[in-house]
Amino acid sequence: MNDVIHLLPDHVANQIAAGEVVQRPASVIKELLENSIDAGGQNIKVLVKEAGKTLIQVTDDGKGMSLTDARMCFERHATSKINTAEDLFSLKTKGFRGEALASIAAIAHVEMKTRPGDEELGTCIKIEGSEVVSQEPCVTPEGTTICVKNLFYNIPARRNFLKSDTVELRHIIDEFQRVALAHPGIQFSLFHNGSELFQLPESNLRQRIVNIFGGKTNEKLVPVTEETDIIGINGFVGKPEFAKKSRGEQFFFVNDRFIKSPYLNHAVTAAFEGLLKDKAYPSYFLYLQVDPKSIDINIHPTKTQIKFDDEHALYTILRSSIKHSLGQFNVAPVLDFDR
Ligand code: ADP
Ligand code: MG
Repeated sequence: MNDVIHLLPDHVANQIAAGEVVQRPASVIKELLENSIDAGGQNIKVLVKEAGKTLIQVTDDGKGMSLTDARMCFERHATSKINTAEDLFSLKTKGFRGEALASIAAIAHVEMKTRPGDEELGTCIKIEGSEVVSQEPCVTPEGTTICVKNLFYNIPARRNFLKSDTVELRHIIDEFQRVALAHPGIQFSLFHNGSELFQLPESNLRQRIVNIFGGKTNEKLVPVTEETDIIGINGFVGKPEFAKKSRGEQFFFVNDRFIKSPYLNHAVTAAFEGLLKDKAYPSYFLYLQVDPKSIDINIHPTKTQIKFDDEHALYTILRSSIKHSLGQFNVAPVLDFDR
C-alpha cells in the first residue's frame, strides 16, 4: 500500500489553527490588546473600520520588536513568553501559545511597524496569507502598530458568517471593556469609523468602571476585599437595588485575565440571596488573585475558562466575603473614591 500521510504546509496549518483563535474581529482585538499589554504598553489605541471587517489597528508604546523578531512573531508556536511546559504554571503574561499572530496573518492582510527603544530605525513588514510580501526598515515611533485588513479575505465561508456591523461592534466593545477593566492603570482608546467610542485615562479601578459605565455607576458600587491563604479578592459588587434585568455588568478577572465561570457566578448570586427581585442580575467587578500553580488556563483556545484546583473553597470564600460586604454596607455605607 502507498504511504498517504504528509505534513500540511505551514499556511494550511496556520489557517486551520486560526479557526480556533479567531472567530470574529473581536477575537483579533483581544489578541492584539493582550500582546500590547504583555509588551508593557502604557498607552494603547484601537482603531476599527466597519466593525473590524475591513480594518483593525492596534498601536502601543511597548517595547517593540527587533528586526528578526518582527519576522519570527508570525511563525507558528513562536513566543517570547514561555520556554518550558513548567512555565505554564507560573504565567505572568496573557499570551503563551505563540499562535495568535501566525493565525491572524494566515487569514488577513497584516502590516506591522515596530521599533524597540534602543534602535533608531524600526521594521515595517507586510504579510498576506502567511507569506511575507515585504520587509524594510522604516521610521516609526517606539512600540508596535499592527494593522489587520480584510479579515477572512481567503475564507469566504467565515467572512459570510460574520454578523451585522452592529453585532460585531458590540463584540469588539465587550472585549475592549474586559481588557480595559483588567488594566485600569493603562490608558486605552477605541475609535470606530473615525469616531471616538472610548477614551480611558490611566486611573484606579473605581474610576475606570465609572469611565466605562457612566457617572451613575459610582454610587452603586460596594467594595469587596478579602485575603486568605488561597485567594485574594478585590473589586466591587453593585448594590442589590441597582440589579439589572440582563447580565451585562458581570465581570470576573483571575490574575488580571477576564474569565467566564458559571460556578463562581453562582457563588455571587448566592451571596445576594433574598436581596434581589425575580430575574434581576447583580453587577459585579471581581478581581481574584490566586497562585498561578493552582489554576490551568490552557483548557480553551480563547483562555476565557479556567480550571481551579480548589473550586469549592473559592466558592465558599467568595460568597461569604460578598455577603459580609453587603451586610457592612447596610450598616455603614462605604463610598471611598480612593480604593
Ligand atoms: P504569544 O502572545 O502567545 O507569545 P503571539 O502570536 O500573540 O503569541 O505573539 C508572538 C510574539 O510576538 C510574542 O511572544 C511577542 O514576543 C511578540 N509580540 C507580539 N505582539 C507584540 C507587541 N505588540 N509588542 C512587542 N512584541 C510583540
Ligand atoms: Mg499573544
